[in-house]
Amino acid sequence: MITTLDLAASLSDPVARRTLASLSLSVAKSKRIVVVTGAGISCSCGIPDFRSSDGLYALVKKQYPDTILKGRDLFDASLFRDPTSTSIFYTFISQLKQSIDVASPSRTHHFIRTLDEKKKLLRSYTQNIDGLEEKAGLIGSSGQGVKSNEKGKAKLRVKDVRNIQLHGDIHRVRCTLCSADLPCAEEYLQLFADGLAPDCPECTSRSEARLARSARPLRIGTLRPAIVLYDEAHPLGDDIGAIQAFDVSRKPDMLIIMGTSLKVHGLRRLVKEFAKVVHASAPPDPMSTKAQAKNWVGKVIFVNKTPPGSDWNGIIDYHIEGETDVWAYKVEEDWRKMRPSDWEVQQTLDEKDDGSAFKAMKDVVGKGIRKYLSLHPSLRLKRMLIVETCRWQTYSVWNGECPPSPGYRAIHCAAQSPLFPDEAAPVDVALHGWRLQSVEEAGSSWDF
Ligand SMILES: [Zn+2]
Repeated sequence: MITTLDLAASLSDPVARRTLASLSLSVAKSKRIVVVTGAGISCSCGIPDFRSSDGLYALVKKQYPDTILKGRDLFDASLFRDPTSTSIFYTFISQLKQSIDVASPSRTHHFIRTLDEKKKLLRSYTQNIDGLEEKAGLIGSSGQGVKSNEKGKAKLRVKDVRNIQLHGDIHRVRCTLCSADLPCAEEYLQLFADGLAPDCPECTSRSEARLARSARPLRIGTLRPAIVLYDEAHPLGDDIGAIQAFDVSRKPDMLIIMGTSLKVHGLRRLVKEFAKVVHASAPPDPMSTKAQAKNWVGKVIFVNKTPPGSDWNGIIDYHIEGETDVWAYKVEEDWRKMRPSDWEVQQTLDEKDDGSAFKAMKDVVGKGIRKYLSLHPSLRLKRMLIVETCRWQTYSVWNGECPPSPGYRAIHCAAQSPLFPDEAAPVDVALHGWRLQSVEEAGSSWDF
């Protein structure tokens, strides 16, 4: 049986309200949460639903008036068989990437990041190719930083990857010949916009090196967007399978599925596999005292506007009907109320460990600190301790874009805030999420 909870109606329904609150507490108590997401979590970011978007198709249609490609055809591997459909695909992707580039992560993306910061996220798996998890600070499986090269073969470093991009990443390109994997540079995007494929720089340099020693030149591959099409295998499929198996063996204690209609075969399998092991983590006898004490363990939560099919009975425990952003907001609000100690986090920004964040923080908060430093001209700022004090509401308003380094978020909050006047003391930053607690310099320190 799937329990359905209507988010909008829960205000007037005490039973639903209590159940939702107990689920929020379960999230707060869980230790190894697997999150699975789809397009629904990026809707509020202004990313068009590209599989059915009229706007993008209209643009593509202008450039290719005779096109009949639509919907699934535009994402089917067979499109590469025909040069015209290949061109249309490239143009479409360039348009899509441009609208993704200006988008910011949603509250749901930040919520997943929060789970990770609070050491509760076992792993996030997404069908989305927009890379907004990375913008929210979760390291994705397509990033170069998480691949180690063993015998020339890229391999994902399990611990570093926080978000598995099941369908690839629109911000990267791949060579069709040598499989070189590169960021999608502006020049490539320009060519894609005109329906053209850029030459692979790695193939080109190998070929040129041969020419230089009078050997026969090699074939040069072209670059394509590194997203996974229908009927196409993921180039990192083996690694992803291994990570998935590893995560199953870690015995996750909660599964949260958000913003997906669960239609894609591979994703259905993944959800079922995780649901099974999550359910197995619940105490076997639900009436025992031990089970009563651990009743937060082993829940499978599905947050989506539309209900799951009846074939999900026994797999999904709760369907939370509504926007994922609204639920994420509610969970975090409940969590802060129920377990305030979880939110008293201290972070140290160290110049050595995180130079850029430190510098940016110094620039913003510096306006206030400069007052203190001007009284001590011989001192140089070395280390700042900042304390998170915010409530979600304040935090979300100023949290439009969130680069991955710790502290940077706080800087962004402060930098954007009209409530942060030029001459404010550093402690004013507390209004916007973070409070500067102390500034340290060799032999001296100040507390705020
Ligand atoms: Zn190549």
